[in-house]
Formats: sequence, structure tokens, C-alpha cells
Amino acid sequence: MDDYALVLNAGSSSLKFCVYRRPVAERWRLESRGQIEGIGTSPQLSAKDAQGEILAENRLEDWVSDGRAALDALASFLRSKYGGARVLGVGHRVVHGGARYAEPVVVTREVLEELYELVPLAPLHQPHNLAAIDAIFDRMPDVPQVACFDTSFHYCQLPVAKIIPLPSDIRKSGLQRYGFHGLSYEYIASVLPDVAPEIAKGRVIIAHLGSGASLCALKNAKSVDSTLGFTALDGLCMGTRPGALDPGVVLYLFQSLGLSAKEVETILYKKSGLLGISGISNDMRDLLTRSEPKARLAVDYFVYRAAKEIGAMAAVLGGIDGLVFTAGIGENSPDIRRRICQASSWLGVELDEVANTKKGPRISTLKSKVSTWVIPTNEELMIARHTGTMLGLL
Ligand code: ADP
Repeated sequence: MDDYALVLNAGSSSLKFCVYRRPVAERWRLESRGQIEGIGTSPQLSAKDAQGEILAENRLEDWVSDGRAALDALASFLRSKYGGARVLGVGHRVVHGGARYAEPVVVTREVLEELYELVPLAPLHQPHNLAAIDAIFDRMPDVPQVACFDTSFHYCQLPVAKIIPLPSDIRKSGLQRYGFHGLSYEYIASVLPDVAPEIAKGRVIIAHLGSGASLCALKNAKSVDSTLGFTALDGLCMGTRPGALDPGVVLYLFQSLGLSAKEVETILYKKSGLLGISGISNDMRDLLTRSEPKARLAVDYFVYRAAKEIGAMAAVLGGIDGLVFTAGIGENSPDIRRRICQASSWLGVELDEVANTKKGPRISTLKSKVSTWVIPTNEELMIARHTGTMLGLL
């Protein structure tokens, strides 16, 4: 019987998955990937095989209203496709590993409890990530699970990059900058030697621009700094999050507007950023088609903030050799890439307009001082690699 392994990336309204298969005496290969989207609103399952052929594309029933129900729906889809398969392990994306986890970990009930303690540091993501682990414990207690953290890749940053300059008795409880999107950055760092060897060991800024967005400053493939910090609220403007704010703004929300902690949390995680500025949408593709001044301002601010933070990361690195765009906006929007590159021309970024419209992968001219790239990220593959290593499956 063939062996199978599963990768899960459970979010608030979506459950992404990859199925890997190892035929007898062969190597692991991707069998299928897909997602359940619109959990809680209008749930939909889509899945493709490794060649991109559609395996499923259907509306799910309304009972798929939370993460557990989505896992049940996924389980029944997987049973219908791979009934009786022997599952050797499940790898999960977990956003926060706190100060403890510099590496992926095989999850026990004790580890899971510890990870639940980090929920206040990532309230939008961590509960959903952990609910998926919990659900697998209940349904397949004998199948080993591995948690792969978005924070681990940044563990090696120097204390000066990690410190939050508050009194030490407050910092003792783990108040420090962690950084996120680590699985994406780790994947990009792992493919640079093949895709862009001339910058693989150099000073590189990776711009992960999706619904969540951040930059990572890399030196010799290691994280030196990142724009996300203690929580996933820092740094760049995001779909519904504002990015870095004067902390006085938060005091103002409490003291002058009298908002509750829950209300402030909702504003910061769900109502700000592109959505807050435009009042129209949190979706960049949508905003780029709109002519309303508020939509334009939202896009202008996104670009402005990204360029400003690229300047800060370049200062940390003492100049840059490479710039890489990735994730939904970074991979798919030539317009946003062009605008960010133009705003970064003072650093020596010179865009090749034609290559940019064709997605590169190299999008800078040959004489550009900074070689600039579009590289699709693959967080699920990174999780699969870690899970294979941790469980001795490779
Ligand atoms: P996440 O994984 O954080 O949910 P993604 O990496 O999927 O986010 O990125 C989603 C973002 O990418 C959305 O703002 C979406 O509008 C944007 N996006 C996707 N395709 C395009 C495109 N062709 N042009 C502009 N933006 C795009």
C-alpha cells in the first residue's frame, strides 16, 4: 500500500491542504492540493492534482461553518479519493512558536497546551491552526503531527533586532519581536541558490505581499530583521491590518474613544489597512480596478509604506544586492511591483518593464545594481519538507 502525508494550513476562513504520496519504493511526490474557502459564509471546496487538473470544485453545505466542520468535509473528500490510505504524518502551519520553538516540533498534548498559551499573540491565526491539530488528535490519534512555525526562521536575529524597549519586568513574559511569514521566507531562501545564485549569499530583501504582508532582510540566507514583530500587526499596510502605528493611537482608542479591548482588537486586525483606508475592499486586485479616490489612496499608501520599509531594511543590511517579490500581490501584480521598484530606484533598483509584465523571474535590467525577482512562494512544500525530516520519512 502507498504511504500518504498531509499538509494543513488552517486559517480563519480557509483550510488549505496538500496531499503527498509515496508509491512503494519511490520518492514522495505531490498528489493533490486544494482548499476549502468561505468557511462560515459560503463554503467551497476546490482541489487539483499535481498536473493542475481539477479534481473537485463544488459548493459545500452550510454545516461547514467552522474549522472542525471544514476538516470533516475535507476528510470525506479525501476518503472518497484515497479511501483506506495509510497516513504517516500530518504537518501544520502554526503562526506562533513563541520564544521556545526555533524549529518545527512533533506535537504532543503538552506541546499543544503550550501553543494555546500563545493565542493572545496571534488571535487571528493561532486558534485556527491549533484547532486543526486538536481535531486530528481526536480523529486519528495514532498519526504523528508536526507543527511548523512562522516565527522559527527569525529566531537567529540578533538581540538588537528582537528587543522591544519596554521595562525589563514587562519584557520577561516574552515581549519581544518574533517576525512572521517565516515558512515563506525559508522557502524562498532555499530556492535562491538555483533561481538567483548571484544573490543567494548576499544582502536580500524579500517582500511577501499578500493579505498579510511583510519584508524580511536576509544576509547569507539568514533572517537579520523583519517588519512583523511581536504580533502580526507591525510593519507594512495589509489587507485589514494597519501595519506599524504610533502606540499613542491605541491609547487614544481606549482613553478618548472609550473602546473596549475586543473592539480595539477587531479594528486592528479586521477593519484597518487597505479596507480601512478605502472603505471598499481589503483585496488589492479589487482596489486596482477602482477609480474612487479612497481606493487610490489605499493603494498609494500600500506602495508608500512598502517603499519606506524597504529603505529601513536596506539600512539594516548596509545596502542591498537583491529584491524578491512573492505572495498574492508580489507574484501577480506587475503594477504594484513597478511602483515599489520605482520608489526604490535610489537603492539601485532598475526595472525591466517587459520582464515585469511577464513575471520574470528576473525583472531588473542587466545593469541594475540590485537584481530583482518574482519568485512564487510555497509554504506548504516547506511544511512537507519539515514534516518529512521530523518524522524520518525522507
Ligand atoms: P494570504 O495567503 O495572506 O491570504 P495571498 O498571498 O493569497 O494572501 O494574497 C492575497 C492578495 O493578493 C489579495 O489582496 C489579492 O487581491 C492579491 N492578488 C491576487 N492576484 C492579484 C493580481 N492579479 N493583481 C493584484 N493583486 C492580486
